[in-house]
Amino acid sequence: MTETFSQSGRWVTRFAPSPTGPLHLGHVAAAFFAQSHAGNGGRFLLRIEDIDRTRCREAFIEQAVTDLEWVGLRWETPVLYQSRRMKLYQETLDTLSARGLLYPCFCTRADVAREIASSASAQHHAPDGSLLYPGTCRTLTPKERLSRIEAGIPYALRLDTTKALSSLGSAELTYDELGKGPVPCCPAAFGDVILARKDTPASYHLCVTHDDAAQGVTLVTRGEELRAATAIHRLLQATMEWPAPAYAFHPLLTDANGEKLSKRTGALSIRSMRESGMSPMDVRKAAGLSG
Ligand code: GLU
Repeated sequence: MTETFSQSGRWVTRFAPSPTGPLHLGHVAAAFFAQSHAGNGGRFLLRIEDIDRTRCREAFIEQAVTDLEWVGLRWETPVLYQSRRMKLYQETLDTLSARGLLYPCFCTRADVAREIASSASAQHHAPDGSLLYPGTCRTLTPKERLSRIEAGIPYALRLDTTKALSSLGSAELTYDELGKGPVPCCPAAFGDVILARKDTPASYHLCVTHDDAAQGVTLVTRGEELRAATAIHRLLQATMEWPAPAYAFHPLLTDANGEKLSKRTGALSIRSMRESGMSPMDVRKAAGLSG
């Protein structure tokens, strides 16, 4: 049964930034949103989602921890760094692979786009806006797979979503949203998502669900832009028999033009706010918090 806000205060929550740029007010609002749901009786964790080594920078990680402390957040130690947990993610991939739920995909992004353009299907995008993979490599024979791997063609590992769903039986997947109750979700709409690639050997979907389970997170808080991905997360949790956390989504902070705050739209960094003389309270207020 879904909990209500009045029952908050004993949740285990986390703030899980990806250190691909400096933190801005949107991050501060999201971190306090997570912390407030842990309340006094719960636990608040910090997890650095630094899996994508092509985009994450060490300097951003250090700065993020400094900024979050400066703005007044306190979390339970130790901080968890995903980049140090590859072995655990690999074990999950091995489990899924042994159950026949993964397959190698040799398609480049251009191959996928071309395949989609020539297909009769009207559905070209997954609910999160990513290209909907048409399943080209799902039907390769074991021999074809092997010869491509041996030829050194780079490949990603995709989840066979239909197979994973059927292995669960016919049970409809839902997620429990705080204050709302069970919300039906449809992982099939995502197609066969990538769970690992050559340059990033474990994907966001895999690592986030793995670690929420491993850390005993009971309430996942995140921005509305990640709501759709909950469907694929619920499928991974059910497939791996990980506990299902509850979910709470916060609206995104926008700038004067109504654009989501981001490095791209020129959002000020917390560091530059501090250097301009703003106090932690000024920054919290600017993030829409009561002070
Ligand atoms: N690391 C993700 C991000 O910064 C958020 C993690 C999550 O809540 O799913 O967008």
